[in-house]
Amino acid sequence: MKLDPFEQKIIDKMQPGVLSLSGFLGKDNRHLHEIIEDDFNKLKSLNKTQEDIADRLSFFTDKSKDMIEDYIIIDDKYQVFQEVYRGLVLCPFNHKGTFKKAIIKLINIEKNIEIQWTPLNIHMIKEHCFFEGKGSHYRFEPEIIINAIF
Ligand SMILES: [Zn+2]
Repeated sequence: MKLDPFEQKIIDKMQPGVLSLSGFLGKDNRHLHEIIEDDFNKLKSLNKTQEDIADRLSFFTDKSKDMIEDYIIIDDKYQVFQEVYRGLVLCPFNHKGTFKKAIIKLINIEKNIEIQWTPLNIHMIKEHCFFEGKGSHYRFEPEIIINAIF
């Protein structure tokens, strides 16, 4: 499939070592459009929107900033941990903004599900419906994340 130069630029930025060490596409052989469309359809079938997920992840991200111990327990059910790093990251979709480098880990204690994300993931889900390619370090399946945070 021939890509327009704009799309090619996005895909180039998603390669390992450009904006992030491990890249965004993992071992996924699908076209970027397909990755996004498949997850978009999956969200629809699970009756959640990109905003629902992004808002919920933002909630946990903000709450875990107040972490005093090694982690914070939220609503007696979620164990959340946030590690902030120096520096900022860019969105591979050619946006102007920058995002804090941080990793947020959440364990749903009741269901025993563990997930992790970065502030950039929240943006990419909300604005681009992009959950990263299969095999990517921060890829998460919409089912798993929905099951963990709602
Ligand atoms: Zn963006």
